[in-house]
Amino acid sequence: MAFELTFHGAAEQVTGSLYVLRAGASTVVVECGLIQGGREAEARNADPLPVAVDSIDAVVLSHAHIDHTGRLPLLFKQGYDGPVYVQRATRALCEIMLPDSGYLNEKDAEWENRKREAKGQPLVEPLYTREEAEQSLALFEGLGYGEPTTIAPGLTLTFHDAGHILGSAIVELRYDDEGRERTLVFSGDLGYHESPVMNDPATLQHADAVLMESTYGDRQHRPYAETLEELGDVFETARAAQGNIMIPAFTVGRTQDLLYLMAKHHDEWRLDKWHIFLDSPMGIEATDAYARFRHLYGVQLFETDSRQPDLPNFHATRTTEESMTINEIRSGAIIIAGSGMCSGGRIHHHLRNNIWRPECHLVIVGYQAQGTLGRRLVDGADEIRLFGDTYKVRARIHTIGGLSAHADQQGLIDWYAAFDNRPPVYLVHGEARAQVPLLERLRSELSAPASIARYGQTIAI
Ligand SMILES: [Zn+2]
Ligand SMILES: [Zn+2]
Repeated sequence: MAFELTFHGAAEQVTGSLYVLRAGASTVVVECGLIQGGREAEARNADPLPVAVDSIDAVVLSHAHIDHTGRLPLLFKQGYDGPVYVQRATRALCEIMLPDSGYLNEKDAEWENRKREAKGQPLVEPLYTREEAEQSLALFEGLGYGEPTTIAPGLTLTFHDAGHILGSAIVELRYDDEGRERTLVFSGDLGYHESPVMNDPATLQHADAVLMESTYGDRQHRPYAETLEELGDVFETARAAQGNIMIPAFTVGRTQDLLYLMAKHHDEWRLDKWHIFLDSPMGIEATDAYARFRHLYGVQLFETDSRQPDLPNFHATRTTEESMTINEIRSGAIIIAGSGMCSGGRIHHHLRNNIWRPECHLVIVGYQAQGTLGRRLVDGADEIRLFGDTYKVRARIHTIGGLSAHADQQGLIDWYAAFDNRPPVYLVHGEARAQVPLLERLRSELSAPASIARYGQTIAI
């Protein structure tokens, strides 16, 4: 009986993860991620899924990031009503992120239809709605790490801590084919061992085939101590200038890393003079999930028995009214707000109030895609447009590159090297430029049977 896997996404690219596993008569979809990166690529999200919905027996998702989960509501919309296995904390995060993704789809469709209506063209439907995303959550079954669970005849799923974001998992799938056991291990997104909050990724010793992410397969992260020093310098310069600090941040992971680092280095960075605002309803909800699942990582981020971050002068501004009170502050506010690439959200209001003031600072802590406002600011734009007006960029822009949630090249090599039988390894979730140097090192240093996963390719395990 066959135990095989076909690559239908994140092959020679990062986003849109989707793999189809066949184990005997059963079909399992592993990951159901959204394709991201510009209009043309994103239009492909509406393409028919590569597998008939009524033939799917189970779905497994490694973690809550939208490039791994964002097409799940579409599968539900098309009639899938079987189980979706996730780590328990991933379920909590998906309750926040998938409805938001549905809401963004509705907004996109509305925007597109306004243009189409004017031209007399047929209207489009959102990929899925907020309501459909909410309904799809009923299919989710949360599992703990290290709990083997039978998900199809002869097929056992075990999650292991991937150390990437809260609830992130390495997916181990073991198939017992009439006494002959075969194991597939999928890395999911692997964490960076120096990142402050999450544990190190778990290592496994045996597999018959490995799928490994390769986002930073061409890169060595700089020493973490340097990143902390840079952050400390920003706070020092900003204190002397007496303005505000804006930090556009992603909801999950980066935001909680920042809160933890500010608490840990509070005295050293002399943060007692600052008020720290988390001005993002989604960021606040995600931080609350980090509080509820605090047993899943090794540091103390919250006050004992409380969901309040263990950080003096911290304010979570949930409502619009609370958020607007920040507009009056001219000096001494650290404002963490979405969106992470400044492409929308409350950060626009803070940019409007602060970007033209030379005493203010904008601190970029995450990747800024081509075409986003965040990228234009990093690239040195002298003015930006917000709410129909033009603003001069006079605030100082700092880019802090070292806060990655992904393993670097050495981290990936070390994770694979823990397998004592040197199984075939297929690189996924990376661009060719990142995959080739990693492939070469895996082959030359570890004699690994390594290859780059090709779109549509099927491997036997
Ligand atoms: Zn991820
Ligand atoms: Zn990813």
